[in-house]
Amino acid sequence: MTLTIHRGTHEIGGSCVELHTAEAKILIDFGLPLDYEKRTPEEQEQIRRTATEWCKGVDALFLSHAHADHYGLFDLLPNDTPVYATEDTFAMLALDGILGKDPTTHLKKCPMRGYQPYEISGLTITAYPIDHSAYGACALLFEAEGKRVLYSGDVRLHGVKGKLYKQLPREVDYLLLEGTNIAREQHNPTEQDVENEFIKTFDDAPYALNLVWCSSKNIDRICALFRACRRRGKTLVIDPYTANVLAAVSKLNPKIPSATTTEQIKVYFPPRLTTRLTERDQRQYIYSLNPRENKITYTEISTTPERYVMLVRPSVVEFLQKIDAPQIRFIKSIWSGYWDDPNTERFRHWVEANCEQLPDIHSSGHADITSLQRIVKFVQPKHLVPIHTDSPNRFAELFPDSSIISSNDNKEMNI
Ligand SMILES: [Zn+2]
Repeated sequence: MTLTIHRGTHEIGGSCVELHTAEAKILIDFGLPLDYEKRTPEEQEQIRRTATEWCKGVDALFLSHAHADHYGLFDLLPNDTPVYATEDTFAMLALDGILGKDPTTHLKKCPMRGYQPYEISGLTITAYPIDHSAYGACALLFEAEGKRVLYSGDVRLHGVKGKLYKQLPREVDYLLLEGTNIAREQHNPTEQDVENEFIKTFDDAPYALNLVWCSSKNIDRICALFRACRRRGKTLVIDPYTANVLAAVSKLNPKIPSATTTEQIKVYFPPRLTTRLTERDQRQYIYSLNPRENKITYTEISTTPERYVMLVRPSVVEFLQKIDAPQIRFIKSIWSGYWDDPNTERFRHWVEANCEQLPDIHSSGHADITSLQRIVKFVQPKHLVPIHTDSPNRFAELFPDSSIISSNDNKEMNI
């Protein structure tokens, strides 16, 4: 069997791994580099051309989770390629269809259940659900030709499902472990800490309108914010895109709140976003939210701003401009790199001119160093292979008892 990390040995994001046995060619993740949008058109073309080569003759693709740096090149996969992922991951991918395109429409979808082995041409593959900021994330175990290879995907231990790592298989031959935070000496707060921090912030300024910028797909974070709102008697106000995301996820898991299942979530309708959703499918994306009962206007928010916490995104700035409140506070609950993105410029200017900007209330979607060490101690792999990291050299220092195999992109390893 050969193992090739096509991208990810010295880079966070854009992951793609190939496993080749005598009978099968398998790809694991097929992601877009995080800096893709900042590359020149020629470089982008080169990335796509190279990735097209990687997926030639692929028998199946296994996806760890629904983040674009792991699935963003799916459009290059040949039609009807079998793609395996958890049902929750497929549901998250389908959400791209709300404003754009479901990346799996041309593929053969094969939903996997956790802990259940699947056979493909002599390979046995098992998904192990783990905690990450993407709903439905899993680690993947590949068994063939007497070898066991575990791919961590993106993982953390400080989220609500952090303990799932104790269900991972042990004593595998190779553990491909993500190292996003391996060079960052930081301790990550839990989602419970994040919830408490939101509450403290609300209490500091009881008459303010609080705006929180967080990814619409970071379900655990939205739940933490919602719990904080509920504990302080505030209503969480979300845009119709986020409302559609929550509606879809609450169908999979009724414990997740949505605008139609709780009175403590209301929906605001920014003009441009609402028009886009109306043009796509008014019945599905607007009427299904029951706006007659769940809609909130900027006048209502302006009248009693202290009652509300708004989830905001750069595309809702037109709506924010209409709000008239004496004190508006802005909190980032998202990776800070998005703040400087060229697409956020108008939003950023509005925030700077109209809001009191508070320190971020955020926690990484990725394991910190101590957590990575706990994973390795638990799994006890024969060999540790760094991936999804910009600092593979730090592995040797942090895992002195492990046999570390650092590779280079596109280098074929016989295992
Ligand atoms: Zn991820």
